Amino acid sequence: VLDLVIRGADVVDGTGRPRRRADVGIRGGRIAAVGRVDDPTRHTVDAGGLVVTPGFVDIHSHFDAQALWDPALTPSCFHGVTTTVSGNCGFSIAPLGHGGSEADYIMRMLARVEGMPLESLRASGPWDWSTTAEYFDRLRGQLAINLGVMVGHSAIRRLAMGDAATERASTPAELEVMKAALRLGLEAGGLGLSSSWGPVHDDGDGRPVPSRFAAREELVALAEVCGEFAGTSVEFMPPDPEHWTPDQCDLMCTLSTVARRPVNWNLMRVTESTRARAEELLRTGTEAAARGGQVVALMMPMPSGARYSLRTGFVLDMLPGWGPVLALGLEDRMAALRDPEVRRRLTAESAPGGLSDWGAKVVCEVVAEANRPYVGRLVRDIAAEKGTTPLDALLDIAGRDELRTTFVQARPDLSDADWSAMRDVWRDGRAVIGGSDAGAHLDFTAYFGYPVYLIEMAVRRWNVVELEEAVHQLTSVPARLYGLVDRGVVATGACADLVLLDEAAVASGPLETRFDLPAGAGRLYGEPSGIEQVVVNGEVLVERGRLTDARPGQVLISGRDTAGTELAAPISGASRGGAPKEVRLI
Ligand SMILES: [Zn+2]
Repeated sequence: VLDLVIRGADVVDGTGRPRRRADVGIRGGRIAAVGRVDDPTRHTVDAGGLVVTPGFVDIHSHFDAQALWDPALTPSCFHGVTTTVSGNCGFSIAPLGHGGSEADYIMRMLARVEGMPLESLRASGPWDWSTTAEYFDRLRGQLAINLGVMVGHSAIRRLAMGDAATERASTPAELEVMKAALRLGLEAGGLGLSSSWGPVHDDGDGRPVPSRFAAREELVALAEVCGEFAGTSVEFMPPDPEHWTPDQCDLMCTLSTVARRPVNWNLMRVTESTRARAEELLRTGTEAAARGGQVVALMMPMPSGARYSLRTGFVLDMLPGWGPVLALGLEDRMAALRDPEVRRRLTAESAPGGLSDWGAKVVCEVVAEANRPYVGRLVRDIAAEKGTTPLDALLDIAGRDELRTTFVQARPDLSDADWSAMRDVWRDGRAVIGGSDAGAHLDFTAYFGYPVYLIEMAVRRWNVVELEEAVHQLTSVPARLYGLVDRGVVATGACADLVLLDEAAVASGPLETRFDLPAGAGRLYGEPSGIEQVVVNGEVLVERGRLTDARPGQVLISGRDTAGTELAAPISGASRGGAPKEVRLI
């Protein structure tokens, strides 16, 4: 007897092959049959007119903490995500030191670097695990979607070095401790090593995060440890994700060749006008292949719709002169931003255009009643009306909201030429769609909805690809990169992670701030339309936009739930990436 039969849907199976009408029978969490299914079944879903696809695989999220209080990892589950990989960019929350001794540092770091409200992290129950294995035990049986977790470089460096982790290079003895912690984490099932030399990654004290103090040799030694464990990967945020540099290219190729594992790096956006620069960045993938490695870029198929706020100051603190002002406590910061002298100085120091083009910002959300009329308006227009400069206009609005105002850069929608450029890049194999950062930057970005957005825009609106190709890119391509066993396809024997969607109706919904995090903190939130049902490991998790109380998710274990990420031995003479460079501190 089958547990569930989905009857009469068009099956878009994730391989990219054309759809076919078929029933999908499910038993014991797996797909038992695809075709005509006449076996008796406990439950039947009549899916005529709908499309069934594999569940979407989001390989770059930061749900490590959210998994403690929100087992379905909302809102990603509503967007059809059934499997996600967290612990990226070096920021896993395990290991955590004896009895969770590093919890305070890690929480403050996450609050700063990943935009998770500190009060929510602190209210999420005791962070008292020591090891990755103990953290996994905490999650087991609780999850509603599948979660794989990387072992984060900053976590193990903090464990090995304490405060010195954000002061200097490691000693050989400290590196040995890091390697041991990494081995323990990978033995427990961590999916690989994650790290960052990303320029915006600072900790709760405003210092660069621990991994940014690592010498090249430290990173390479840790990547090498990954090579001891089957089914692992390396994820890395390079120091200059916007430009190709020889050092950066060599480093990423070397990480791959010493680990003999794929390296993925974040983050790349491609539009028609940036296609040439993307090609430059993708050269790292070509170079890696020539050396017997594999390096792929994560490409986010959504325009940067980052919501800025002077309350968090994230990214804005990179602007010349703004760092010290935004580092002030709230009262002092508000006073400084009211001060005409400070405003004059900030204006004088800013470079023209780009992020500091205040006139080109659009007001998104406000708190004060007096600010309501400005929602959705260009700051330039507001300033013209008031007879002030755009910066003055924006700071006046933000001041009335105790700096809670959020605003975005005004941008035209992506065109069909932009989508064609993206399509050409994902077809070429050196980039994989991903990089949502879901679970992070909670008041700042909303890329969690990228699977639905991709289908809505690339398939429905601009018609640059068929649904089959979009689904392939959202499922089996990322699943293959991480070696996820039996996921990312609809096939007999595969895990029954499925999305039932109404192709004509799939669309991103509106965004709003919801105050549903622990301790009442807010986050940007949105649910799509057209996702009729989401099935995880054979159990229905989402039914027409509502969660069931099923908890079918699994903690994915490397070497068991992943396999086949091993690359052949590197091409001789290139295995070490040439002579080691001098110790580098960023
Ligand atoms: Zn990240």
